[in-house]
Amino acid sequence: MRKDYLLTPGPSAVPADVLLSMAHPIFHHRTSRFQAVLKETLARSRRVLMTENPVAIMASSGTGAMEAAVANLASPGRRALTLEGGKFGERWGELCDAFGFEHEAIKVEWGRAVDPGIVEEKLAADNSIAAVFATQCETSTGVLNDIEALGKIVSKTKAVLVVDAVSSAGACELRTDDWNVDVVCVGSQKGLMLPPGLGMISVSPKARALVEATENRRAYYFDLVKAMKSAAKDDTPYTPAIALVIGLNEALKMIEEEGLEECFARHRLLSKAVRAGLEALGLELFAERPSESVTSVRLPEGLDGAALVKTLRDVEGVAFAGGQAALKGRIMRIATMGYCGKYDVILGLGALEMALAKAGIDIELGAGVRAAEEVFLKG
Ligand code: PMP
Repeated sequence: MRKDYLLTPGPSAVPADVLLSMAHPIFHHRTSRFQAVLKETLARSRRVLMTENPVAIMASSGTGAMEAAVANLASPGRRALTLEGGKFGERWGELCDAFGFEHEAIKVEWGRAVDPGIVEEKLAADNSIAAVFATQCETSTGVLNDIEALGKIVSKTKAVLVVDAVSSAGACELRTDDWNVDVVCVGSQKGLMLPPGLGMISVSPKARALVEATENRRAYYFDLVKAMKSAAKDDTPYTPAIALVIGLNEALKMIEEEGLEECFARHRLLSKAVRAGLEALGLELFAERPSESVTSVRLPEGLDGAALVKTLRDVEGVAFAGGQAALKGRIMRIATMGYCGKYDVILGLGALEMALAKAGIDIELGAGVRAAEEVFLKG
């Protein structure tokens, strides 16, 4: 018998209470019973995203929320900046291309963070820029971009700041209103501890005004004016993913019971322990500005990294993520997001140590685990 562990940066593990909350018979959504659940879920969503802006919940993955943002903001004569330091930053560029949103891509070497100073220069040089599309945690590289700094810069201009927080919401600090983030896009299957299937989006008054001024908005299901009108009434324009919304309410309740600041602190500690463990094994961390929800690490030269990740998952039952695109086989990514505690980290490092030793890499067994334990003992 093999026991499986999910340490991938989405989907992530789902707590039993959340799973059980979704196992009830389905009831109709146009009822006071569902509206009470939705009202509570939307209020919790706003608190967890630290915003007073309306939040809409959609039946899509995180990319649906990103598509909603681009489709509703693309308008003739407007330009955008897409901050592209990995696969998900590049997705902003691809979405802009798909919706005819003229954009300039600020390309950042994979593994590095976006330099907010460059964004400031670009905004100063071109006042047709209406939106800046950023990624908080670039999951493909494990980099956490400085959203607070970007918010300070973008809020001084007429442009809106749109942030992909798919792999950071509920794990990394994101103070939507304090940091002047206009649009936040989230998916359910990461820090929010749900199965895949929900997208969420928050929209500031500044972004809402821009959306309302968009010419020929090319969205129907993802129409943000409709979505925001419904959200303001604690409703959804179309049939909501009832079971997932019930699960989201339960998951958000767990985050609130832990305390949002405590939840951020837990992710900081978990990722610190992962980094300490990897470094104690002599491995080199990949991200210049590491995220607290996913840690990327270079694999030793000459090692077949893709095979290592596959064996760990398919034979040992411990699922990590490998590298994407040009990083395939060269890095490995270990998630600490959502339903994750210190013994997940210790288990993950133990499995990695054994796999590296089996692959003939010269490491000291137990060194990574010990370093992580020391971080936890210090707190
Ligand atoms: N952005 C980021 C930062 C992500 O990590 C992901 C999922 N890996 C996405 C967007 C896309 O989300 P989904 O797969 O839920 O559409």
